[in-house]
Amino acid sequence: MLDELGIKAFWFIYTSVFEGTVEKLELFRYFRSTAFGDVDDFYHAFFRMVEERLGTLYVKLREEFDPATYLPNSPFYTWSDRWFRFLRDHVLGQEYFPIIEDMIDASKFDREKAAQILWLRGEQVRDLADQGHVIGLHSHTHPTTMGKLPYDEQLKEYRSNADYIFRLTGKTARVVSHPCNSYNADTLELLARLGIELGFRADVGQVRTRGPLEYRREDHANLLRLIQEC
Ligand SMILES: [Zn+2]
Repeated sequence: MLDELGIKAFWFIYTSVFEGTVEKLELFRYFRSTAFGDVDDFYHAFFRMVEERLGTLYVKLREEFDPATYLPNSPFYTWSDRWFRFLRDHVLGQEYFPIIEDMIDASKFDREKAAQILWLRGEQVRDLADQGHVIGLHSHTHPTTMGKLPYDEQLKEYRSNADYIFRLTGKTARVVSHPCNSYNADTLELLARLGIELGFRADVGQVRTRGPLEYRREDHANLLRLIQEC
């Protein structure tokens, strides 16, 4: 479709998948959007699992949770979208993975089959670059809270990512989009050191003094909804 319309695009690529790693975040996203009637069915099952594990802590967190102040720059997120992301990114940490693994085990979802269709292959990335599309950084393993990692770990994430993209495409990446919109001053500093000239956030929030690595970005799902509303 892009070819038909004569459009060249940014493609922000995390690269651990080219080493044969199945990144769970993406696999889980695919699971929750295909193995349930709709996303609310998934949320219902997930919240029940988390409540079982956390008990009274879950009830307390839920009472205190204020959806208006969590991810306020993503206006299209529903209450459940926000509660899900809050639990995943700020409460469960590593406990998130076994919960979803248990849900997958209890379903008919085929991990292997899904992994085969989820990611671009190396030669496809090279083709895109050859055709004039812009391949950019998105970290190596796609951490959800990059901005909380120590400097060295962040540097490792982005350096591996940049090296991999260079090996795949023969071109040095000059652009980045921040995974899950997470970054801090260290991230911006090390990205500049790696020669990155342009970067995108994952939302449309205003940044007080925005640098070249913090451009606002509207999510494609929101754009589609806006178009349909017109
Ligand atoms: Zn991402």
